Amino acid sequence: MTVRVRIAPSPTGNLHIGTARTAVFNWLFARHHGGKFILRIEDTDEMRSRPEYTQNILDGLSWLGLNWDEGPLFQSKRLDLYRQAIQTLLDKGFAYRCYTSEGELEEMREAQKARKEAPRYDNRHRNLTPEQQTAYEAEGRRPVIRFKIDDDREIAWNDLVRGRVSWKASDLGGDMVIARASDNPIGQPLYNLAVVVDDIDMQITHVIRGEDHIANTAKQILLYEALGTTVPEFAHTPLILNQTGQKLSKRDGVTSIFDFKKMGYTAPALVNYMTLLGWTAPDSTKEIFTLEEAAKEFSFERVNKAGAKFDWDKLNWLNSQYLHKMPVDEL
Ligand code: GLU
Repeated sequence: MTVRVRIAPSPTGNLHIGTARTAVFNWLFARHHGGKFILRIEDTDEMRSRPEYTQNILDGLSWLGLNWDEGPLFQSKRLDLYRQAIQTLLDKGFAYRCYTSEGELEEMREAQKARKEAPRYDNRHRNLTPEQQTAYEAEGRRPVIRFKIDDDREIAWNDLVRGRVSWKASDLGGDMVIARASDNPIGQPLYNLAVVVDDIDMQITHVIRGEDHIANTAKQILLYEALGTTVPEFAHTPLILNQTGQKLSKRDGVTSIFDFKKMGYTAPALVNYMTLLGWTAPDSTKEIFTLEEAAKEFSFERVNKAGAKFDWDKLNWLNSQYLHKMPVDEL
């Protein structure tokens, strides 16, 4: 089996340190196994995606030396593929058209809140008759497509970082919307569906991404099963935390890769630093690595489950090590 991994950034902002670190781990894993590293741009959110962010992501990955073997592939050019999959799910009874209006959803949520229940869709349109559907269409309602989630299921996988992870389907919020209402009869495909269709199509063997995607993984496994394909391996990497232990975000100041560049950090130092954000080499005293050196030793067994604290002192120290070595015109 050839290892195939991917990085799938959404171009809704500049290349962020979190995404870059996920790219580093994917790159290291691919190179360690002589596999392929694929770049996919997840630009299905037309309102928030911008070409200049795509460019920033491509330039940032190139500056860091994270060269990709295939892509960039753009989700916005692959809508037909997603719609075919949605049609299959509809045909096989795994998905249905849901006409519940915004107002009805709001009422549902209010009632759940009053009962102190977590908000969820109550699956009320799961078994509409064709006549009921026609009546809603006649009212001018446009449906979303929902994927049926069997509340009795437990979804479990062996995570390469976290070990066994299990999730109750009843905690996933009811039948999941896989396409928004649109002028197209199959709607506008959404994130979880598009990711699964792409990962199947691109023959991704290992999905390596931040642990904020764990609930999505549970939903996606159900989609793989319904589409009748093998489920890839998953590795959920620890988040990068700020000094107070929260997820590092834009509010913490510098998070975009080219801001680090502007501050004088060199690409090899930054990439070396990101490699060590959550991963320890077999020889834990060894801290200076090129990407190629780290790839030789990389494995998920040595990736920490706990969040990785961003440490400016360490980054500064690494940067000084590289500055010593680099000819001035390469800085
Ligand atoms: N597009 C998602 C993001 O930017 C990544 C999805 C994935 O890796 O599956 O967070």
